[in-house]
Amino acid sequence: MKPYLSVVIPVYNEEDNIAPLLVSLERALSNLNKPFEVIVVDDGSHDQTLAKLKALKPRYPWLKIIALRRNFGQSAAFTAGIDHARGEIIVTMDGDLQNDPADIPKLLSKIEEGYDVVSGWRKDRRDPLISRKIPSFLANFLISRLTKVRLHDYGCSLKAYRAEVIKGITIYGELHRFIPVLVSLGGARVTEVEVRHHPRRFGRSKYGLSRTYRVLLDLLLVLFFRKFATKPLHIFGLTGGIMLFLGFIIESYLTFLKFFLGQKIGHRPLLILGVLLILAGINLLGTGLLAELVIRTYYEASGRRIYNVREVIE
Ligand code: UDP
Ligand code: MG
Repeated sequence: MKPYLSVVIPVYNEEDNIAPLLVSLERALSNLNKPFEVIVVDDGSHDQTLAKLKALKPRYPWLKIIALRRNFGQSAAFTAGIDHARGEIIVTMDGDLQNDPADIPKLLSKIEEGYDVVSGWRKDRRDPLISRKIPSFLANFLISRLTKVRLHDYGCSLKAYRAEVIKGITIYGELHRFIPVLVSLGGARVTEVEVRHHPRRFGRSKYGLSRTYRVLLDLLLVLFFRKFATKPLHIFGLTGGIMLFLGFIIESYLTFLKFFLGQKIGHRPLLILGVLLILAGINLLGTGLLAELVIRTYYEASGRRIYNVREVIE
């Protein structure tokens, strides 16, 4: 039988968290009275995480374990779990007991209201101030301003998705925090609810301060993708065309000075500016055309469409 809900949890070196995690999942999910599965993805742990999962498996019939061959990172582990999920609704969360499964019903009821994505907001976040809360406050502010998908907390792993929405995208690199942005590009309805957050009790965080910088790079990538995914030539072509045009005007003016007024132009900075504008303009136009080829290959090779249908009424 197909479950209604799939909960996807990546774990990497979380040996002491496994047993209490499964207990709290059992408590939170058995009250739902709906069929569910929990997919725990072991992301190449070096400790007893996988052994503990296997040992506890007989006790929990709803548990599915996916063991990756090495540590591929949190985004890849989420993707592996989502690929194996069979539920209509997919909930993702961390396996370190910082997210609370007791919040899952709250997320589900928002989905049932008609949203495609419900993101958790750790309003009272229990992480170190300097290394975590401040950088992520800044990152959240920027992401919200620039992507126009207004959430308070992109980094919270506890999120719920309608399966067809999340299965329609591929999460590369470390882009899992941008899933709401990526799916809203496809027209998904996104909202957020406040969720609880607990300090980490066992094991250590896998990330340091350098993550903030990477998140900013990822933001750049997502913004770029959002703007140029379907018509790169328009943006490259516009700036390239303007530069080419300005360069052409400058060089025409200098040509006029030389041949009609007999002035020397070899020493003029304007000459170099004009040449640079022409070269840069040609380059940008060429990049735009190449980007068009890449985008076409992307859509055709992946069988993706440039639109998304919510429903068909006949
Ligand atoms: N995780 C993972 N693979 C990794 C790093 C982390 O599966 O390479 C898991 C980790 O076990 C935890 C979740 O991702 O369940 C979040 O990691 P962590 O708690 O270290 O991040 P933080 O809460 O400090 O942002
Ligand atoms: Mg954590």
